[in-house]
Formats: sequence, C-alpha cells, structure tokens
Amino acid sequence: MGRRADIKTGYTCNSNCVFCVIGDKLFTGERPTPDVIEELKASRRTCDDIVFTGAEVTLRPDFLYLVEAARRLGYRNIQVQTNGRLFAYKEFCEKAIKAGANEFSPSLHAPVANVHDGLTRSQGSFNQIVAAIKNLKSLGQRIVTNTVAAKQNMKLLPDLARLFVELKVDQFQIAFPHPTGHAATYFNAVVPRMSELAPYLQEALRIGEAAGVPCMAEAMPFCMMKGHERFVSELFIPPTEIVYEDFVVPDYARDRMERSKTRFPQCATCRFEPMCEGPWREYPEMVGHDEFQPVAGTRVLDTAIVQDERFALLGTVAPAFELPAGDGSVVKSSALQGKWVALAFYPEDGSPGCTAEACSLQAGLHDLAAAGVTLVGISPDGVERHRDFALQHGLRFPLLSDPTGAVAEAFGARRPGQGLRRSTYLLGPDRTVAHVLVSPDVKSHAAQILDAIRRFEAPPRSLEQGPELIIRRHAKPTAEAAVELGLVDTDHQRFAPAE
Ligand code: SF4
Repeated sequence: MGRRADIKTGYTCNSNCVFCVIGDKLFTGERPTPDVIEELKASRRTCDDIVFTGAEVTLRPDFLYLVEAARRLGYRNIQVQTNGRLFAYKEFCEKAIKAGANEFSPSLHAPVANVHDGLTRSQGSFNQIVAAIKNLKSLGQRIVTNTVAAKQNMKLLPDLARLFVELKVDQFQIAFPHPTGHAATYFNAVVPRMSELAPYLQEALRIGEAAGVPCMAEAMPFCMMKGHERFVSELFIPPTEIVYEDFVVPDYARDRMERSKTRFPQCATCRFEPMCEGPWREYPEMVGHDEFQPVAGTRVLDTAIVQDERFALLGTVAPAFELPAGDGSVVKSSALQGKWVALAFYPEDGSPGCTAEACSLQAGLHDLAAAGVTLVGISPDGVERHRDFALQHGLRFPLLSDPTGAVAEAFGARRPGQGLRRSTYLLGPDRTVAHVLVSPDVKSHAAQILDAIRRFEAPPRSLEQGPELIIRRHAKPTAEAAVELGLVDTDHQRFAPAE
C-alpha cells in the first residue's frame, strides 16, 4: 500500500456544512501557492499519493496549477476531496483531469435535495454534486464518495447507498462526525448517538456490498459494527501523513490510536482491544461511554485477519489431523506438545519464498521453543521431498505431507480447487485457533510469530492520551519551488487556472 499525504490547502468554501470539522476556521484564508508547492515537494519524498483537501480546494484560483504541480512531482494517485459543486461544469472536470487529477472524492450526504442542501446549508448543492458525479463518471474517472452521518440523514443512508449504486460510484464511505468545528458547536442538533446510527449504517453497507460496490464506515468502533467488522474503514486506510498549515502529522494511524481517539476501562476485556482505535475522543466527552460494551471472543491482533474470511475461525477448535512427516513418522495433532502450536502452511519445498520462510523459522527455532511454541510445517509435497528439503537446509522441525490438501482445506488455507495460501495458524493452549498470520513475512517469520504471541498475551493498552505526534517541517515558502518544477512563476500563472 502506497503512502499518502493529505494536504490542507486553506479554509475557503462555497458551502457551510453543519458538521464541518474546520467550521471554526472557515473563511480565514488560503495557504500561499509557493507554500503548498513546497509541502507537495516535501511530502513527495515519502508519499506516492496525494489528497488535496482544505475547505474547498477547487475554489482556489491556482487549483489547476497545484494539481499540475503534483503531477509533475510524480504523484501516482491525485485525489481531490470536494463538495463537488464546481465539477457540475463538465469543462472544469476536463481541465482538472488534464492537469492530473485522477480520483475524485465528492461529499454527498443524502439521497434527496432538501436534506443534502440543508446539511450543506447551500441551496442547489445536491443537484450540483449529482451532476458532478455523472460528469466525472462519463469521463472515466474514479469516484470515491464521502458522507457524514448526522441525525438528519441517518435513516436515509440505505436510500443513499442505493443512489450510490445507481450513480455507479467506485466506492463509498460513511463517516461518523468528528465533533470539532461546527460538529462541536451544533453537537446536540447534528451528531447522532452511535448506537442509533449503527443499524441504518450497516444496512447501507450491506446494500453496497450486495451490489459489488466497495464501501466502509469511518470512526465506528468494532463494538458498533458487530457482524460488519469487515466494513470498518480503519482496516483499509493507507499509511498517511496530514499536512496542516504549520505542522505535519507524519503518522495519522498512530495519531488516531494514541491521541485523537479514545478507549475506556471496559475495553480491557474486549476482543478488539489490541487493535481498536475507539471513537473520536470528543464524542464520549459529550455523551459518556456506556454505549461501548466489550465484545466477547478471542483477541483480535491485526487488521489483516478481520478482512479475511478466516476471521470466523478465531476461537474455534482447530481441526484434528494425522499426517506423515519427512522423517517417516506420523504426526497426530492431538499429540503435539507445547503451550502454543504454530502450523505453517506453505506451498512448495524448495521454492524461493518457501526456502526463505523455512530458513527464517529454523533460525528462530530456539526462541520459539523458549516461548513454548511447537512449530510444524505443512505443504502438499511428499515425504521424500520433505526429507531432502530438511536435509538441504538443516531444518529441525517436522514437515508434514498433505498431498490432497484436505488438512489445508479444513483450516481454510486452501480453497477448493485453488492453490495453497501461505499462512500460519497459531493454536493456543486449549488448541483453539488464536490467530492466523494471513501474510507471513518469509524473511522474519519466527519473529512475526513471537510478536503475535506477545500481543496476544499483552495487558490492555494504556488509556492515557499519548504525546503530541507532530513535526514542524514548514518550509519557508519560496517561489523557487514552482520554478524548479518547470512551472513559470509569474503572478498570472500562479493565480490563474492553467490551460
Ligand atoms: S475496544 Fe472498546 S471501543 Fe473498541 S470495540 Fe471494544 S469496547 Fe468498543
């Protein structure tokens, strides 16, 4: 997943949404052009993708110029977050695409004009954004919409999902409001109770899923998404830095986890405690935290397993097996000793990936044994090939032969008629499935197993708010940055849309 920068370009908007998170800063000005370009350059050192946000970046006279600067800097995905209103003009869409924009994230908040226009406090904005989506789709563009859930629109979310399907958007996301800015000012009028919102939100997501449209919910903790955990957007957000006007949040995920969101004493017993971000900090400060009740079940260690269908295996008794080993013995699962059992399913003895994995496991065998882990490798290879592979690389853990793939299928490591998926199953002391490493790092797999066990056994995380996680890299704005990109730095070029 490529790293992404979200750059905030200013505070001007032609709408005035009731839940605007920067509502308190609206209309306080725009960042100078050279300043934005310097930041684009700085973020390009670590990021492949860029998201232009602000209040409404398309209103900037230099909007097209900035998009073109991003293109010349080699950003791969150039996304524009927008209220969509200017894209109602097809010519404007064409200019933005020509400048380099290739992904558009318009904010559509309701399936009917009166509710959308009421939330944006802008008459006609619904018709404009629908026209914008149609224009951009007709030009072959990728549309990833954003919706903020509010008291006014929550019951309409299923109908909104149907509209998204009809408009053929590529993805939609529905976000719980972050109670800052206007959303804090109008909290009681606008921000729904999360538990009341959840059923409508989940129905909307099921509609999207049934129609094959990727969709997700942002800022909804797992306890609000029971049976719908796969839709939690925090599972998918790429590594992101947020570029504000005078500081940068270099690790947005860590900032959310340690500072911007919060958890509660009762989270200690929740299965999602190891990886849940909790709600935005401001929400329980307003309404308390009784809505957030721990989810029972086996601890969930990472986002990858929630996205995998083997999530359902966690906590279930591991399938029994009896397989021949490379040393001529027969290994029964019921006879495996050790506090933990690690079953490493791998595709083929001697392949580069499997050789690297086997050697890294062998290198960590002592540490695994010290942690009470019994390691077993399983592949479709026959026992003779296993013996040769073990001899060649000095492997001192059993390699079991599963030529029909029956055991792999019982564990879900192979789907019927498909190849084996490299994955490692951690069975706990009660021999239930404690965790599945769905994408083992073949070069450090033993360390990965040990890290998973450490996290499985770790005490609950601290509830203290973490330290400020920002850097001040604000470069002195100079016009030279634009010149270096080959953009002619005249007042006309800087402040007029490029042709
Ligand atoms: S850790 Fe807390 S906030 Fe997160 S899902 Fe569990 S109870 Fe909810």
